[in-house]
Amino acid sequence: MTSNASLLFVNAAQVVTCAGPPRARRGTEMGDAAVRTGCSVLVRGDTIVAVGPEAELRGSHPAAQEIDCGGGVLTPGFVDSHTHALFGRPRFDEQELRASGMDYMEIARRGGGIHASVRDLRQRDEESLVDLAVARLRRLASYGVTTVEVKSGYGLTLDDELKSLRAIARLARELPLRIVPTFLGAHEIPLEHRDTAGGREEYIGRLVGEMIPRVSELQLARFADVFCETGVYTVPESRRILESARTHGLLLKLHADELTSAGGAELAGELGAVSADHLAAISEKGIAALATAPTVATLLPGTMLFLGKPSRAPARSLIAAGVPVALATDFNPGTSPTPNFTLILTLGVSQLGMSVAETMIAGTVNGAAALALADRVGQLAPGFSADLALFDVSDVRELPYWYGDRRCLGTWVRGKSCHPRHLRVS
Ligand SMILES: [Zn+2]
Repeated sequence: MTSNASLLFVNAAQVVTCAGPPRARRGTEMGDAAVRTGCSVLVRGDTIVAVGPEAELRGSHPAAQEIDCGGGVLTPGFVDSHTHALFGRPRFDEQELRASGMDYMEIARRGGGIHASVRDLRQRDEESLVDLAVARLRRLASYGVTTVEVKSGYGLTLDDELKSLRAIARLARELPLRIVPTFLGAHEIPLEHRDTAGGREEYIGRLVGEMIPRVSELQLARFADVFCETGVYTVPESRRILESARTHGLLLKLHADELTSAGGAELAGELGAVSADHLAAISEKGIAALATAPTVATLLPGTMLFLGKPSRAPARSLIAAGVPVALATDFNPGTSPTPNFTLILTLGVSQLGMSVAETMIAGTVNGAAALALADRVGQLAPGFSADLALFDVSDVRELPYWYGDRRCLGTWVRGKSCHPRHLRVS
């Protein structure tokens, strides 16, 4: 197939186009995923060129190679806009500690949690990290994800953060997925800086004086992120780090109000961050701050499920206030080791009270907006990147319904088959 060959996706029971304005959707806009029947999608090279009645497109493009959707549901590929997919050893040992009553912060204080992943990653070379991540990203792709954000943040030294970001850059070159790199040097205060006088201040000084400028100079990240949370980075510290990142040309994200209402959402609104993520403990003031900001609220219900926490992000209040909501896996070794994007849609419906259409917009258009990609990713519409996913269901409402099941039959990224032909999951 030459790069300008045409593909025509035919015989889909439904085409969920999510078509509309090329920006984050708010309020009632989120309730319409633009589901079409009798509809085909025409792709030329890496771009969607037409979406319309099947008979019409077949007639006008007789030379196009047809892809038979077999009565399945065709959607934009999912955008997983929050992952920590680059890590070494999985941390399954902590699950039982939590079950026995030890909480996440207590495990962290004992050197577990993020610190365990930091110790592990520092001992590994780039090659080993790439090998582990390739297998894990293939699993994510096998559930219909075509764009994935991957954060650093288990290195917490200049060299180990650069090693992580170089590994992410290699993954972006070697895998057919679209990968967006985020610098999360402010994931934690590293242990060696935590318990020494002035150590904390020294590490933040390194972040703003050395690490952010170097990451920016090497063009290894598009976003910078900070874990703004009680016991991790305070609001003033987060502001200082993110203002430095912005000065160096990075776009901004925040881990905000995950466990406590610490003012993270308010800071995201104040800085006009591209996204504020988690928000299970967001306050009314935080919701109001996001409602007047360009910020996408990225909700990660898989994390609360896995941690066994009853708190839930107030999706309905956020949507009612006009805040655009995205859903993501938070795929990471400690608190959300699931690659199953459609399970997150299930949680969006059953735990957060969203409609199926709202979860579809949250997993496509608004996920793309959370990565500043909404002008080219997240819709099946002319001019958009040909990123598609095909599912073995006949109605889009079955995607969150068959919960935990993997119904994805295949994905295409930039017009090229991504999974399963090139991304087989063993
Ligand atoms: Zn996270």
